[in-house]
Amino acid sequence: MEIKKVGVIGAGQMGNGITHVCALAGYDVALNDVSLERIEKALATINGNLSRQCSSGKITQEQRDAALERISIAENFSDLGDADLVIEAVVENEDIKREIYKQLCPSLKPSALLASNTSSISITRLASATDRPENFMGIHFMNPVPLMELVELIRGIATEAETFDAAKAFVQRLGKTYAVAEDFPAFMVNRIIMPMINEAIYTLYEGVGTVKAIDTAMKLGAHHPMGPLELADFVGLDTCLAIMQVLYDGLADSKYRPCPLLVKYVEAGWLGRKSGRGFYDYRSDTPVPTR
Ligand code: NAD
Repeated sequence: MEIKKVGVIGAGQMGNGITHVCALAGYDVALNDVSLERIEKALATINGNLSRQCSSGKITQEQRDAALERISIAENFSDLGDADLVIEAVVENEDIKREIYKQLCPSLKPSALLASNTSSISITRLASATDRPENFMGIHFMNPVPLMELVELIRGIATEAETFDAAKAFVQRLGKTYAVAEDFPAFMVNRIIMPMINEAIYTLYEGVGTVKAIDTAMKLGAHHPMGPLELADFVGLDTCLAIMQVLYDGLADSKYRPCPLLVKYVEAGWLGRKSGRGFYDYRSDTPVPTR
């Protein structure tokens, strides 16, 4: 099962990173999103990130140019008809993902593998919304994709060994290391990190510390490279809330209840870095705490 062309659905922060690393590893990549404008914005980000890697000597000018040439725009799902692997990286919302698979599957070639970059949703359940559960997997990249070494691989109940082997080979060709997780809510990385982020938000909500105090405490007191609130803004508060909700619903344990303050920020549309405001306001040069 040789993968030559990869389709990526969703050109947000994860979709652009996945496109970037696939193109750099020599795959042809077709990128799709709901509008041409979003795809073009992602292409500009990829261009900027590849140029930065080039100036810092991580890649050569030729590698950068060749990677950019391998990326194409898929305005419609029919443009993904020749893809050997399609990775879905749209918002963390099960209904939206299911609807995409319903519309997408008739356009795919029968042998195409389909994967989700979901952070938390059951791979078995997502697979059941496709016409190819045996060719479906969780391929969970970390943010920012070009920098993070790990990819979690998750098989659904019906995933065939050939699909799993092809995913392992794909991840290795990207130069990443995989860790295999069983199909339980939020897998491994987010099962561990997200309750910590949620607890940091409770710490803020209960007035134990300010945004700055909590982040400083965890950076200097636990040697975390980013404070938990800074990290929440980086991930996206809508994604953090969706993951906590999946943990809470899926494991039926009150220790996973999403903090009401997280809910309030999402309701306000303060989603973190990507919307300009979250626990910090990013609209000026230096991020300013919002509480
Ligand atoms: P994002 O908000 O940056 O981007 C989501 C993109 O999906 C947007 O560009 C949006 O236009 C697009 N989209 C929405 N509906 C669509 C549709 N019907 N068809 C095509 N595109 C559509 O989100 P993100 O942070 O890139 O997250 C995407 C996925 O990756 C989620 O499943 C998330 O859980 C997962 N993930 C996120 C992180 C993280 O740190 N943010 C890390 C690992 C995995």
